[in-house]
Amino acid sequence: MNRGREWIGDSPYNTEAWEEPPSDESRRVVVGFSGGVSSAWCAGWALRTYPKDEVVLLWHDTKEEHPDTVRFVHEMAARLRLPITERSDGRSVTQVFRDEGFLGNNQNAMCSRILKQEPGAKYIAELIAEGFDVVKIVGMSAKEPRRVERQVALAANGGFSVRFPLIETGTTKQAATDWCLALGVKPSAIYCWSEHANCVGCVKGGMAYWKAVAEHAPEVYAQRSALEEEFGHGILRGGDREHYLLKDLVSIRLKRAVNMKESIDIGSCECGD
Ligand code: SF4
Repeated sequence: MNRGREWIGDSPYNTEAWEEPPSDESRRVVVGFSGGVSSAWCAGWALRTYPKDEVVLLWHDTKEEHPDTVRFVHEMAARLRLPITERSDGRSVTQVFRDEGFLGNNQNAMCSRILKQEPGAKYIAELIAEGFDVVKIVGMSAKEPRRVERQVALAANGGFSVRFPLIETGTTKQAATDWCLALGVKPSAIYCWSEHANCVGCVKGGMAYWKAVAEHAPEVYAQRSALEEEFGHGILRGGDREHYLLKDLVSIRLKRAVNMKESIDIGSCECGD
């Protein structure tokens, strides 16, 4: 059921003023709460669109998020006055690589599947088995059509609904950021150098992203570089990148200057940010 509505109350930033829509006790609205500004905005949208007791903030801990992202998750949940529902594998990204015997890369980020997609799908399947109608809220933008299509297919196969509030409302990431700030919750410090609140040293990153990691999180860069030595293969895959290990990348000049957006435009992990 689409209960989409415009801002309720006198301000989208005044959570006290949000009017409670009628409840449907058999429904759960599961927001992928990633630690990013977009998913946080989607949580606010869900609370303005559905009854509060139906909304679930679903969080998966990869144990390698930026510490300030974890701070943001807890501060935003408190500001929205909702508990965090955590469904975590329990392992870190690095532990998953070691258990799988394979270092994830920008063409095979199995850490996302194991630490986020599968626990999320399991949680939704449990809700459905308990008799709930599930609406999954995903903070992807119209710039990610293939990922949106995949989510729609997963929902169709899984027997639940999916909504993309950023696309439905034409909300930009900047607007989501402004909304978080207006609520008094400062977005994660990782946004100072990464467009997404992914793990620090996200294996989906390209060359320019890793240049940024080397500059802003050198200890993580060194750890990922050591993993390349340990596994005997690189994180960077595809095209020219195939030839470079992280230990070589620091001394390589990129073919062209990259601006901030290009350098970090690596795609959000699973639930959008
Ligand atoms: S954010 Fe990147 S490193 Fe972390 S789980 Fe997702 S794909 Fe893996």
